[in-house]
Amino acid sequence: MTILQTITPVTHDLGQFEVRRVLPSAQKRMVGPFIFVDQFGPAHLASGEGMGVRPHPHINLATVTWLFDGEYAGAIEHRDSLGSFATIRPGQVNLMTAGRGVAHSEDSVRDGANLHAAQLWIALPEAERQREPAFCNYADLPVLQADGFRITVLAGTVLGQTAPTRVYSPLCGVDLSCDGPARTTLPLDPAFEYGALVLRGEATLAGERLPADELLFFPAGRHELSLQADGPAEILLLGGEPFGEAIILWWNFVGRTHQDMEQALADWNAHPNTGGRFGTVKPGCLASPLNAPSLEGVHLKPGA
Ligand code: MN
Repeated sequence: MTILQTITPVTHDLGQFEVRRVLPSAQKRMVGPFIFVDQFGPAHLASGEGMGVRPHPHINLATVTWLFDGEYAGAIEHRDSLGSFATIRPGQVNLMTAGRGVAHSEDSVRDGANLHAAQLWIALPEAERQREPAFCNYADLPVLQADGFRITVLAGTVLGQTAPTRVYSPLCGVDLSCDGPARTTLPLDPAFEYGALVLRGEATLAGERLPADELLFFPAGRHELSLQADGPAEILLLGGEPFGEAIILWWNFVGRTHQDMEQALADWNAHPNTGGRFGTVKPGCLASPLNAPSLEGVHLKPGA
């Protein structure tokens, strides 16, 4: 089982920091239920500058926000239309389940600090996609030390340790970091496909040398993964059963049909952060809502 695929991110330079997107990409749309993988930073932010994502809606997905520790460790404030407010810090997972609809805003803490974060979107399966929205901050995740790596389980079960993070389909997320040379072998679930993203330094995975910011895709069927780093490095490993449902991704929405998108768009445009289906982001959010793009002339093709 050596069919590997590397995916180079699409990078957007936002001035103070860069955003690198490895999913969805032209080469690979999903890894298990993960349909969206963005990396913000790493960056040192000037005083008063930062990441500010104004109120916007989501449907049929769950967002995971994960902050990296170390030189660029920062903090992000989350607010949503359920009334949640949470400051997320390195070592914690924020999980927002959009279900039938929720709105939120995310802002890096603006004190001239740092930003290095990942945002992941997980598609919800048919039986779960219209569930009630929910938000949870998980501050206490399993952390293991193995062969020079510090391993944090963000979701699912790895090396017998299960994260408290709510999941709606079989998946896992794990962060591996090391301060110097390290080499280990991680057992994998052969029912899962995996994507590995090197966030810092360089690492060799399953014999493939992978520079920072590239995603390495592993199809289902693997039983283990060797990881080796010659110096300080950090790797994010995501996995899950192949999603198996044809979905549409448009703007901040995941759906099954064009009609799902039209309805969500109409509902946001009727009440852009002013109640209705998506509610109003609170408390303390004063930013104006994001405008949705037009669906005019857009042809969305369901795909897995
Ligand atoms: Mn969002």
